[in-house]
Amino acid sequence: MTLQNGSVISTHSCSSTADKNNSLRWDLTPEEITHQTQRLIQRIKQAYDTVGSVDIGKVCFENTLQVIADAKADYAASRHVLDFPQYVSPCKEVRLASTEADKRLSDFDVEVSMRVDMFQRLIALQEKQSGDLLPESERFLGRLIKLGKRNGLHLSKDMQEEIKSISKQISELSIDFNQNLNEENTMLLFSQQELVGLAESYVNGLEKTEDGRYKVTLAYPHYFPLMKRCHVPETRRKMEMAFHSRCKDSVSPIMEVDGNHSFESQKTYTNKTKLNPAARDDTLMLFISFFTSDSPQCPNCPERVLNSRRVTRVTRRLSNIYQDVLGLRFQRVEDALVWHDSVRLYSVLDSVTGEEIGQFYLDLHPREGKYGHAACFGLQPGCLGADGKRRIPVAAMVANFTKPTSSWPSLLQHHEVETFFHEFGHVMHELCSRTRYAEFSGTQVETDFVEVPSQMLENWVWEKEPLRRMSRHYKDGSPIPDGLLDKLIASRVANTGLMNLRQIVLSKADQTLHTKDRADTAAEFAKHSEDILGIPATPGTNMAASFSHLAGGYDGQYYSYLWSEVYSMDIFFSRFKKEGILNPKVGREYRRVVLEAGGSVDGMDMLKTFLGREPCQDAFFQCKGLTQTFTEQTWH
Ligand SMILES: [Zn+2]
Repeated sequence: MTLQNGSVISTHSCSSTADKNNSLRWDLTPEEITHQTQRLIQRIKQAYDTVGSVDIGKVCFENTLQVIADAKADYAASRHVLDFPQYVSPCKEVRLASTEADKRLSDFDVEVSMRVDMFQRLIALQEKQSGDLLPESERFLGRLIKLGKRNGLHLSKDMQEEIKSISKQISELSIDFNQNLNEENTMLLFSQQELVGLAESYVNGLEKTEDGRYKVTLAYPHYFPLMKRCHVPETRRKMEMAFHSRCKDSVSPIMEVDGNHSFESQKTYTNKTKLNPAARDDTLMLFISFFTSDSPQCPNCPERVLNSRRVTRVTRRLSNIYQDVLGLRFQRVEDALVWHDSVRLYSVLDSVTGEEIGQFYLDLHPREGKYGHAACFGLQPGCLGADGKRRIPVAAMVANFTKPTSSWPSLLQHHEVETFFHEFGHVMHELCSRTRYAEFSGTQVETDFVEVPSQMLENWVWEKEPLRRMSRHYKDGSPIPDGLLDKLIASRVANTGLMNLRQIVLSKADQTLHTKDRADTAAEFAKHSEDILGIPATPGTNMAASFSHLAGGYDGQYYSYLWSEVYSMDIFFSRFKKEGILNPKVGREYRRVVLEAGGSVDGMDMLKTFLGREPCQDAFFQCKGLTQTFTEQTWH
């Protein structure tokens, strides 16, 4: 997952290295957040007023597009200092102030998106000067005009007012939705007997009550291992019930208000921003028929593999792989002042030139009030500043991996390593981009292309050599034996049918909720689960209430996770797998063609350049085990 609308927390900026290139602050008080939000709105409004007041006969690049570009670059970085703390600040008051700031800024975003004065001047610029602009400037101008038309700026005043009012309501409800999810803190208590089957490391990592019972939260590192390994059905039943009831009472009404507007305008909008319109119902049904008819079964139980051998020190070893493949070097920024003691800041250098190309924060373990999933937050866009100098991109990876305790180190399980690779792929997308405009920096690509680079990089955790390099036995440091590695890799296609059908259930539920005038969210999810997966939802629960992708930018486009695999698998198997998964030449080319371009080039054009042909779906079906050509020979 990647979020482009994270709010900014205030962090103190730190060492001299960070001071020079990273001006983000994470130490703001709630009052400062409120005050700075107001000042930011004033500053940006003033810039846009200037554009809106240009004599329409005198518009030129410098007095319109350049002013907007500079304002957007300033706004993006300044906004995240105010709206990101809602996800990560350890202080509840700061989180609340940040959430409020996000609401005010989102309202402001809607106001800006509805400015007819700017729209008219951009149209005038396009008519007058379009052919003289640099390709990226022309793309930027075209994008602003397209967005203006989607907001109805060429329609009647009444229509514009209605769109504005609905957009504001949707953005406020989306923020409430996410805030409820972040603040979710249900805890269940179990005796030792009720936790039979769970690993010692799991039980030792749990806090206890005074009467000796164990505290189990619904955070991923608690929920997933328990559901997989606990031998007591009643314990699993209680957890499943609680997990799928998260935010049921607080969020369901929010979604139903949202549903009142049916997201119809949103749907029309998002459908037009798709990279490729192939993921309509008929495509989803095609996937369904494949997965139901031919789900491969794996003879090896992945849990046994993972139980016996966990992965340690993976973050360092993992980052070595990224550094080698993409031609980068990471350096820890010592004494960086961050939003929590456990957060680390790293500087990213080009391994050949030594130039600093970006910085990233790692915030990896759960804590109360923190964002509950794994995501990459772009915090400062990489683009040209108002002075014409390049500003480095800054991003944060926020996740919830198993926390180390005094008696147990933080050992990452294989699925956690996969999540790490995925989110770190988004971080690399953010950091490697070298666009002119903030609008196209990093992951600001077509929404259904955004998962392609991160999914592509997940492939490394299913390959022998990288797995060997990133893992050791946590006690004696010995490498993973070959036999165990083979079993782990073979387990990739275990339950493929189930996992992919679940993605289709979620995609269908997402599209349904975004296109109906009014919907019973629990019933919609239950219907798709029963129809597609053949598994009824637990009565009394509402999975949709904690389905974070329903709001916050993905609206109606959850399908892109599955759809992106078509492209990401094509990239991996057609280039990396053929020419060497650790081949720095291919990695460098990938960095240049796909990552550096950000959103300044169509995703489809990048694919054609990198692949040397039109993309195709063969690799996708092969990796799911759905074709006869899925053999060792094809893979090696
Ligand atoms: Zn993602």
